[in-house]
Amino acid sequence: MTSRAAKPLAAAAIAQLEADGVTTLIGTVVNPAGLTLAKTVPLRRMSAFADPGLGASPVWHVFAIDQTGIVFGDAIGVVGDQRIRIDLGALRILGDGLAWAPGAFFNQDGSPDPYCSRGALSRVVERMTEAGIDAVVGHEMEFVLVAADGTPLPSHLWAQYGLAGVLEFEGFVRDVTNAAAGSGVSIEQFHPEYGRNQFEISLSPVPPVAAADQLVLMRIIIGRVARQHGLRVSLSPVPFADSVGSGSHQHFSLTRGETPLFSGGDGIGSMTPEGQSAIAGLIAGLPEAQGVLCGSVLSGMRLKPGRWSGAYVCWGTENREAAVRFLIGGPSNPCGANVEVKVIDPSANPYFATATILGLALDGIERKLSLGQETTVGPATMTDAQRAQAGITLLSQDHGEAIERLDRSSLLRSILGDEAVDATVAVRRYEQATYGDMAPEELADKFRLAWSV
Ligand code: GLU
Ligand code: MG
Repeated sequence: MTSRAAKPLAAAAIAQLEADGVTTLIGTVVNPAGLTLAKTVPLRRMSAFADPGLGASPVWHVFAIDQTGIVFGDAIGVVGDQRIRIDLGALRILGDGLAWAPGAFFNQDGSPDPYCSRGALSRVVERMTEAGIDAVVGHEMEFVLVAADGTPLPSHLWAQYGLAGVLEFEGFVRDVTNAAAGSGVSIEQFHPEYGRNQFEISLSPVPPVAAADQLVLMRIIIGRVARQHGLRVSLSPVPFADSVGSGSHQHFSLTRGETPLFSGGDGIGSMTPEGQSAIAGLIAGLPEAQGVLCGSVLSGMRLKPGRWSGAYVCWGTENREAAVRFLIGGPSNPCGANVEVKVIDPSANPYFATATILGLALDGIERKLSLGQETTVGPATMTDAQRAQAGITLLSQDHGEAIERLDRSSLLRSILGDEAVDATVAVRRYEQATYGDMAPEELADKFRLAWSV
């Protein structure tokens, strides 16, 4: 319901945005296949986009990554209409007459839609708050710059993390930095990555929903700036089959009141018992969560040992081959001790991914799980017997198997809700059934720009 007081407030906000040169408002949602979908309105329609929202068919939840696929099922068909409402509290100005706000799905009676990823994350955050725990999340985004038609760019001037990459693309780097500042996004660092024409941007930690919103905003920003330079951004987990993949790692830290859970305790790495249980919960749930965190038909191709994608189900302090990398707090780490989940890739819905990792951490805390030994070496250097003894497994590279596990997971269903899991399973199974037999090169080529904005 729109309150009476809200109307003059909205009028004042519109007047201010007009004064800032905004004419057009973009609202976005991210669907279970990881696609960012949008509607736009002229600025005078801003209030209506916020409440009651704009109509959208439930099939938005099952749009597939191949530009045309719709995965109809028993629960999602051609009948029905939902409302996308933008969150005006999160609105940002993009420049050139554009503003943006994240949206969420609601039913026409105003109740939250169980398929909505932003809603699912909000519910997990509420459960954490009820348990007395606060979380902040910092996203890393890795991406590869490609030509406007998706083909590779020249890379003769490129070194791993090399200055040459910064200078080759200095206009892009500078304009992204400026645009991010203009839209109020706080970049921690921006640098060339290991892969050819691959970059990484780390974003400052903020509360979970705002963090996922910020990631979406940043994807819009890099997408817009890339276009201005005649380039495009690949957000594929495997832009090129013969090279390293791109991750979408998430760092998180937890506090109970003022007390951090990952530092100041007397456990391993100065963790508190609850901090240890949070990591234990995460590790225990990873094989079931894989279908959410890195579940596209391409994702398995990235999960190879030696690629720093965290394919091994284990944890370790500063271990870049572990699915869960622990970062100790201290003077060199001003954000404090935190946990990085490396397996997440950019094909994942970031709201569902955060909901999943926080939900698993909370599950570990509630069940007081004890944390296994940390892995202090690259797991690939251990023998099979050593890995078996330490309980270290490799995440499945078999897409079908990862999706089956998710489908059967009562844990993930309890975290995200049945509808969210069913829709995720549906779109990923469609990918498997339709494209699962393609050769890796062909697959990488076909979906290089599937998640691009
Ligand atoms: N590009 C790697 C990935 O696929 C990660 C490299 C790194 O550790 O930052 O996740
Ligand atoms: Mg990186």
